[in-house]
Amino acid sequence: HLTHLADPQTIRQSLKAVIQLAEQYKKENGRIPVLMEVCGSHTMAFAKSGIKTILKDHVQLIAGPGCPVCVTDQKSIDAMIELSKDKNRILCTFGDMMRVPGSRFSLMDAKTEGKDIRVVYSPLDSIKIAQENPHKEVIFLGIGFETTIPVLAVTVQEAEKQALTNYSIWMSTKLVEPVLRELLNSKEINIDGFLLPGHVSVVTGKNNYNFLAEDFLISGVISGFEPIELLRGIYKLLHLLLNNKIDIINDYTYMVKNEGNRVAKKLMEHYFDYHDEAWRGIGVIPKSSLILKESYAQFDAQKKFHVSLSEPRKTKCRCGEIIRGMITPEECVLFNKGCTPLRPIGPCMVSTEGTCAAHYHYMREE
Ligand code: SF4
Repeated sequence: HLTHLADPQTIRQSLKAVIQLAEQYKKENGRIPVLMEVCGSHTMAFAKSGIKTILKDHVQLIAGPGCPVCVTDQKSIDAMIELSKDKNRILCTFGDMMRVPGSRFSLMDAKTEGKDIRVVYSPLDSIKIAQENPHKEVIFLGIGFETTIPVLAVTVQEAEKQALTNYSIWMSTKLVEPVLRELLNSKEINIDGFLLPGHVSVVTGKNNYNFLAEDFLISGVISGFEPIELLRGIYKLLHLLLNNKIDIINDYTYMVKNEGNRVAKKLMEHYFDYHDEAWRGIGVIPKSSLILKESYAQFDAQKKFHVSLSEPRKTKCRCGEIIRGMITPEECVLFNKGCTPLRPIGPCMVSTEGTCAAHYHYMREE
């Protein structure tokens, strides 16, 4: 099956089929179709495979808000830096977050100054650090969408089991449905269809997207990450558009079920409550994240520690518009000038799933 997914001949045929449908759409509508890929991994896969460049005159593929690093509010980074100033604390985070600029500094800057900030591959690794350092407070920066949130729930479960009193999470999670609703309600951009995130859908399930068809009359296809799967997703969206049909299609059936992962959902329900969350570059979206329930407040870093922060400094970074699909990275004056992956100004250039990084690595014209 996987060999078939990478077969160049099949990929060429699929590209041809997509272009054919896109041309038909253009003929009937006088413009090319606009599709949004919600997930940062899709953005990277489109750029890396060359599909985005090949299709640019036929289908406009715009990147959405699904890169967790890119949408993490500056204040969460500022708070972590502030917390790291106490020598009795160890801060833990995913590697991608280290170079993301907060209002003034990044976690990497703070680490260079000698603060104890550690990169972990899983939140569970931070539990181990808490066990090994019983006299220090260990704080994990919990970012991520529905793919990561169940892992955070397991982490709290583990902290509870071990009765850890020196462990907490700074929750800064994000949910897909509220941000898609926000994008569609804002009417800032015209979207003809969504390529829906494969990984998130493993947890949420296909039914989670029915609101797109029911409330917004817009279709979506849940897709995998191989070039052939991406092309099949676009093909299916174009097919629906040309036949005036609205539907949510699960094209990642070997991973995604209609109802999602029941165990993961139950865990999330047990530990978390909905929260109005600030999204970097977008603002506060009601009930767009999950935070720890009051009964687990002992593991909630925002309740455990008081951090006072000033308002984030404004920069010329246009990540907010990029995350909302309103501009491409090339439209930011800093792209490949003041802002590169080595010296990133905004999170979209830092993250391995960021749209600016994808364009820089695979699509920029020298
Ligand atoms: Fe922000 Fe850099 Fe992207 Fe411009 S190129 S939007 S400064 S991350």
